[in-house]
Amino acid sequence: MGYDLTRFEGEVDEDLMCPICSGVLEEPLHAPQCEHAFCKSCITEWLTRQPSCPVDRQRITTNELKPVPRILRNLLARLKIKCDNAHSGCTAVVKLERLTAHKEECEHNPKRPIPCDKGCGLTVPKDEISDHNCVRELRLMLQAQQHTINEKQRDINEMKRDIALMKSCMQEYIHAVRLSNPSITAPLEVDDTVRWSNSLQRARVTRWGGMISTPDSVLQTVVQRALVESGCPVHVAAELMENAHERRWPTGLSTLETRQSNRRYYENYVCKRIPGKQAVVVMAVDNAHMNDDMILEPGLVMIFAHGIE
Ligand SMILES: [Zn+2]
Ligand SMILES: [Zn+2]
Ligand SMILES: [Zn+2]
Ligand SMILES: [Zn+2]
Repeated sequence: MGYDLTRFEGEVDEDLMCPICSGVLEEPLHAPQCEHAFCKSCITEWLTRQPSCPVDRQRITTNELKPVPRILRNLLARLKIKCDNAHSGCTAVVKLERLTAHKEECEHNPKRPIPCDKGCGLTVPKDEISDHNCVRELRLMLQAQQHTINEKQRDINEMKRDIALMKSCMQEYIHAVRLSNPSITAPLEVDDTVRWSNSLQRARVTRWGGMISTPDSVLQTVVQRALVESGCPVHVAAELMENAHERRWPTGLSTLETRQSNRRYYENYVCKRIPGKQAVVVMAVDNAHMNDDMILEPGLVMIFAHGIE
């Protein structure tokens, strides 16, 4: 559909007008044999109904249409036209070739994005700013984000279930292998670690504040020995001890602030008593229900000054 003739300043040559819509050519194409030119949208629509030039009835198809010669394009480009937003008060008259660029920056463009001045940080099309409600918009954004988070959490939970299932399959498999061939004594560590962990007693921590965040090497050695004596595979005990120091703690425990804000979740930990010590082991296998930022693989040792029952 061409440009309305009344928007132009001065005379417009008849060769620059579309015979179909009688407007000034927009995205002009011509039929190569007869050289009649039309707006792209006008002629495309016309040819869906009849395969001929609307002026002289010569046969043409959409595929035969060609861009108009450069001279015609230059003539069009230099025409002066009023802005689309003249009815909203824009008085600009620009060359046709500049029209698109002007509309993007036109002050009077009702769709021009402008920043909300009430502090929500959103940009809103100018014609919607009077109906704009910061709280409503932000709430909608939050809901959308919450939705994404929920979906991700669902995926994670599904993965956790799959992993748990795989682990239990693995354990059953190892168990079956051992039953069928008791001579197999290779270190089947998954099974060993789980069995050791299951053999420990549940512990109750009554004073979480007594946790020692930087146990010295003597204390670490003593606790590590107790782990091994209780049946923990040696290299697992070493890993668990590594994780006893705050530099290795999970992000949910890593700073004083996160510890304070996560304090209420501590009660949910499944803790196992390290025999004879004021220390517990928190194994990842026992704590799949905790948030990922609260546990470590394969687990961690927590050493206390007092308060273990
Ligand atoms: Zn047209
Ligand atoms: Zn023609
Ligand atoms: Zn304008
Ligand atoms: Zn706002």
